[in-house]
Amino acid sequence: MITLALAKGRIQTEALPLFAACNIVPAEDLDRSRKLIIATNRSDVRLLVVRATDVPTYVQHGAADLGVTGGDTLYEHTSGGLYSPVDLQIAKCRMVVACHKDYDYAAAAQPGARLAVASKYVQLARDHFARKRMHIDLIKLYGSMELAPLTGLAHAIVDLVDTGNTLRANNLVAVEEIMSVSSKLIANPASMKLKRAMLQPLIEEIAAAVEQNTARK
Ligand code: AMP
Repeated sequence: MITLALAKGRIQTEALPLFAACNIVPAEDLDRSRKLIIATNRSDVRLLVVRATDVPTYVQHGAADLGVTGGDTLYEHTSGGLYSPVDLQIAKCRMVVACHKDYDYAAAAQPGARLAVASKYVQLARDHFARKRMHIDLIKLYGSMELAPLTGLAHAIVDLVDTGNTLRANNLVAVEEIMSVSSKLIANPASMKLKRAMLQPLIEEIAAAVEQNTARK
């Protein structure tokens, strides 16, 4: 049995067509079912429905052999223990620094300066501002980060941006791009050894489906 951890939302919506191209189709509608373990049309593949930030943890500990997770989440998962054999090229977006449109970020973001930064992505934010040789007071948030600069909680946020609509709607602007983000297939290293005969062909099929998908775009 191959167990694959998948999070609901945008990543799942874009990952399912890739799996369908590899003849893996959930036996029930993931958006409607309350089950957390979902069978597929293949008796040797099942899906776990987990929270996005928990996908690397399930795979690291071998509770799932494979998982699909964003590059952002993977960056924050600092305990290692994961292979990342395929960049799925889905759920693409950018990790940016954003602030209120009236805030003079260029003047504030000088080496040695201090800034209050709110983010869900603490590791990424720390590394980014360390590279800029800046000190930050980091405020960990779990959502609605756009509120932080509007309420005076922070000077800037580090967050994902896709269309930029959310930033615009809240009078924020992206002032720096930290990295581009897409979703990756991740694998448990022990599973890769013990279940190689099952996993390797599937990983190759997924990589081929990604190539077809990107060629179509
Ligand atoms: P947008 O308004 O299209 O720029 O989307 C921004 C909002 O969607 C922010 O709250 C982001 O955290 C979230 N978001 C955008 N892209 C992704 C993604 N690929 N994965 C997870 N969240 C995303």
